[in-house]
Amino acid sequence: MINISEIFYSIQGESTYLGLPCVFIRLAGCNLRCSYCDTTYAYERGKDYEINDIICKIKQYNCKLVEITGGEPLLQNEVFLLIDRLVERKFKVLVETNGTVDISKVNDKAVIVMDIKCPSSGESSKVFWNNVFKIKESDEIKFVIGDKRDYNWARKVINEYKLENKTILFSPVFGKLSIKELYSWVLESNIYVRLQPQLHKICNLK
Ligand code: SF4
Repeated sequence: MINISEIFYSIQGESTYLGLPCVFIRLAGCNLRCSYCDTTYAYERGKDYEINDIICKIKQYNCKLVEITGGEPLLQNEVFLLIDRLVERKFKVLVETNGTVDISKVNDKAVIVMDIKCPSSGESSKVFWNNVFKIKESDEIKFVIGDKRDYNWARKVINEYKLENKTILFSPVFGKLSIKELYSWVLESNIYVRLQPQLHKICNLK
């Protein structure tokens, strides 16, 4: 059984898949309490589903892009089997994780979009740094940046862990830092990262 907060069809708001129609499977429960969290309802227990029932439900949307998200989805052991089953059925699977749980059991064909929590989230001490060495070429690393301190911290992490050749996403914390300000910092520093808004928040999407 997997405990699910919600399953819905929307437009992908982040990552290099931004803008594409996508089915979201939001697992219930999270081990963090980020200062800017917009899915606090996912902390609560949801509804239990069998894997086959989840697959039946998402098939109705007729969409090959599926995101497993949370909360923190990797806290539930059966999620790894769900990802395997989705990959076997030729879904393109994105796994959005908060970067504090070991990613090594995630199917290699899934794309991991891993947060590295910056200081203003209040949760940067919980980052599981070994994950950084397991990121594949097709995976993505995301920094959600709230202020200049976060920005400088993210740059230091990229430098220390030699992440320059990975796909790195920088997004401003919605309502706290403007994308224009972040844009000027990125150009000033001449770093090769992908700047992006949190589209789902700007457009007030689910
Ligand atoms: S990891 Fe995600 S769901 Fe959990 S508290 Fe942080 S923003 Fe909210």
